[in-house]
Amino acid sequence: MAKLYFRYGAMGCGKTMQLLQVAFNYEERGMKVCVIKPATDTKNGKKLLTRIGPERDTDLCFDRETNLYDAISKKFKDVACVLVDEAQFLTPKQADELASVTIDLDIPVIAYGLRLNFRQEDGGFEGATRLLQIAQEIEELKTICACGKKATRNCRFLDGELVTEGPDILIDDGKTKIEYRALCPACFEKYKRKAKLNKK
Ligand SMILES: [Zn+2]
Repeated sequence: MAKLYFRYGAMGCGKTMQLLQVAFNYEERGMKVCVIKPATDTKNGKKLLTRIGPERDTDLCFDRETNLYDAISKKFKDVACVLVDEAQFLTPKQADELASVTIDLDIPVIAYGLRLNFRQEDGGFEGATRLLQIAQEIEELKTICACGKKATRNCRFLDGELVTEGPDILIDDGKTKIEYRALCPACFEKYKRKAKLNKK
């Protein structure tokens, strides 16, 4: 039976790059894949971009209302694999629909995404939480912090200062510099204390 995979990692660990590599491997062997991503990530339109260079058009963009099982069974029943980018933005229901794709259509699904949001302390991304609950194979894609240790925290910086409050998706207003950095727990604490001191 086909499996549901969740491959998670902090920003910059090469999730999209790995997704494109898997798509390439299938297509090189003459098989079709279905690459999907959330429509919330609109800045690049239908394209999946990587920092290193390779890019690809997506086959399906979804919003929170999309029934992924219906969409895949109607148009992509003949694919060898479904690949999901930014899977943390799935609703729990959509994560379950992807599980149904593996069970009822016997198509493997590989979802790539973040495990935890930048606020670090609340419920995080519901899509990632659901995938951690139901995926048969869970794998961590590793990246390193600026200090050289393993980075596990996904952090938002505004004008160079760490923030742990705000919405999941921040619209760039052109005035504030928005950055995401992957940090190890120790560096995260260091920046958090510094931000607290600056507030006082
Ligand atoms: Zn560090």
